Amino acid sequence: MTDCIFCKIVAGDIPSSKILETENTLAFLDISPVNKGHVLVIPKEHYETLTDIPDDLLSLVVKDMKKVAVAVMMATKADGYNIQMNNYASAGQVVMHAHFHIVPRFKGDGFELWPGREYECGEAESVMDDIKSEVK
Ligand code: 5GP
Ligand code: ZN
Repeated sequence: MTDCIFCKIVAGDIPSSKILETENTLAFLDISPVNKGHVLVIPKEHYETLTDIPDDLLSLVVKDMKKVAVAVMMATKADGYNIQMNNYASAGQVVMHAHFHIVPRFKGDGFELWPGREYECGEAESVMDDIKSEVK
């Protein structure tokens, strides 16, 4: 994809702070980190969202992500980490080349997780049925 910023990073047309590069995967520092050590992990080939990535490739990318997550924890001395993936604009995806965020987390770093809501009586069962019927 010629107009994709992450494809340009893969091609070396835009510089990046590379952490790990394999045949299929690239991991590099997010330019605007939530916490220092925030890494993005991408398939080098252009796919837009999680479900666009072929299963074989996805498993290799996730395996590499696991390796990098351990390295991030060790290097930043984090207490934990979030793995986040935004899929589609409504979920906050800005760069339309599928990517996982690894965000190192520290006790008291002040970031909250999203708030939980409640189901009305009987609503959870109906939502469960709707989703179950779509599982292919
Ligand atoms: P999204 O909201 O699409 O899940 O996240 C895109 C991420 O890519 C953001 O966290 C943003 O800081 C990062 N990003 C955008 N442009 C660049 C870039 O040119 N280089 C790097 N290293 N990260 C970028
Ligand atoms: Zn791309």
